[in-house]
Amino acid sequence: MPDVKMKSMVDTGELADKAVAERAGIGWIGKNTLLITKEFGSYVYLGEMITNIPFPPDQPVEDLCGSCNLCVEKCPSGALVQGRQLNAQKCMAFLTQKKDAVPEPYRDKLGNRVYGCDTCQVVCPYNRGIDFHLHPEMEPDPELVKPKLIDLLAMTNREFKEKFGSMAGAWRGKKPIQRNAIIALGNYKESAAAAPLIACLTDDPRPVIRGAAAWALGKIAASNGGASSSEKIGKALEEALAVEEDENVRREIQKALKKIETAGLAEG
Ligand code: SF4
Ligand code: SF4
Repeated sequence: MPDVKMKSMVDTGELADKAVAERAGIGWIGKNTLLITKEFGSYVYLGEMITNIPFPPDQPVEDLCGSCNLCVEKCPSGALVQGRQLNAQKCMAFLTQKKDAVPEPYRDKLGNRVYGCDTCQVVCPYNRGIDFHLHPEMEPDPELVKPKLIDLLAMTNREFKEKFGSMAGAWRGKKPIQRNAIIALGNYKESAAAAPLIACLTDDPRPVIRGAAAWALGKIAASNGGASSSEKIGKALEEALAVEEDENVRREIQKALKKIETAGLAEG
């Protein structure tokens, strides 16, 4: 067919993947804003091929969310403002990928997420019991999807590329991943991470990383009361403050010191 024209695209093409898939009758867009299919739930990859071959159109699928509202209720940050409406600025999937600092109100909510968020998919009843292990080449490597957080902190660009370069989450580079790992260590209140976090605070050239390290150290020290590790962290923060020139990092250090002081007063 010499006159046939075709163009294929995935993710970054001219079409809005989910809207086109909904119109093509592949599924409906749920309250979690994801395309949900009856057969595979929302665990699908979307791609399009535009052609001038005349196909009969498929019928759109009925919206089957009904009275369910689980995704809206379980979203950790209230990013699903209401069904089918997402405030991306509040969404953990977006926040884990941004390159600057994560706003303070969302750091606790990030929990141990190093990249992305799946909560609104995991809770969806249409994803329950679905076998999505259909392509061995797409099976995640557990070591890569759940890496040791402390090991991420001192990773070089080369190590990052070698280890994670082939993963979707690597497209933003290593800084957001390292910042998220630091926040996760703070959320775990992991005192074994104090030394590597102090190294980030004092040696890392990137203000976002130093600021996140100050926040995490404050959180760890405040949770350990008057333990000697907390004293060590407090001293490191004070020393860092004496030489820090970046205003945002200085603010993070001051807030961390205040947090430790308040926790100490509460203990006393
Ligand atoms: S990805 Fe996470 S934060 Fe974003 S809307 Fe879904 S549950 Fe909420
Ligand atoms: S969790 Fe419930 S409301 Fe949300 S997308 Fe799934 S079916 Fe729809």
